[in-house]
Amino acid sequence: MSRALLFAANWKMHHAPEAAVQFARRFQELVAPRADRALWFFPPAVSLEATAQAFARRADVHVGAQHVHWEAKGAFTGEISLPMVRAVGGAGALVGHSERRHLFGETDEQAARKVAAVLAARLQPILCVGETLAERDAGRTEDVVGRQLTAALRGLAPEDAARLVIAYEPVWAIGTGRVARPEDAAAVHRHIRTLAAAFGVPGRLPVLYGGSVNAGNALGLLAEPEIDGLLVGGASLDPDTWAEIVGLGA
Ligand code: PEP
Repeated sequence: MSRALLFAANWKMHHAPEAAVQFARRFQELVAPRADRALWFFPPAVSLEATAQAFARRADVHVGAQHVHWEAKGAFTGEISLPMVRAVGGAGALVGHSERRHLFGETDEQAARKVAAVLAARLQPILCVGETLAERDAGRTEDVVGRQLTAALRGLAPEDAARLVIAYEPVWAIGTGRVARPEDAAAVHRHIRTLAAAFGVPGRLPVLYGGSVNAGNALGLLAEPEIDGLLVGGASLDPDTWAEIVGLGA
């Protein structure tokens, strides 16, 4: 069988519950389950339950939160917790998305606490890492990605860290129409795996690429053996386009 791929849709602040259900209906008309790929949807928190219910019959589809707090409950206005995510059918969470880091000031330390909490809750974290344009231009991509990853790995037992999925998302590529060259993304993915190995993480961490992926460039990215799937924002909002993308690749 061909290698397993993971396709993750980050809907950001789009698709209220009714739109999410309509999306799910159309998408399921177009996409049949495949043993060689897992599909994840990250709707806004208010649409998590509707999305999870709409995909309830699809074992290949998982739904997660875009953002969680590490505490299970408490006085944290505006936050949602992992037990809440689980209660509405969620199976995982994005952590450290660049919009959380750069628009809302999320730190490496906070992302690390979230990763640990998602793993402890036995849910799936997808940890996002990536450099800004200035950092890339200064030749600091590996340093920055390494720092973000190290912050998360430092506090984890290697066998727990082995359950991570990493998404390499260069900040300059997210929502800009500028996609990384497949070979450049693959080099960063290799660096991520080398670092994970240095922390004693067993096995091969799945590493996704994200940043201005569309139906025209996805296949070239997926042709890189280091790229295990895609995390996609804009091009995941339309069910027909997203159905096309998740059908690509070996
Ligand atoms: C994202 O939000 O993770 C993302 C990669 O967005 P876009 O595909 O729109 O660049």
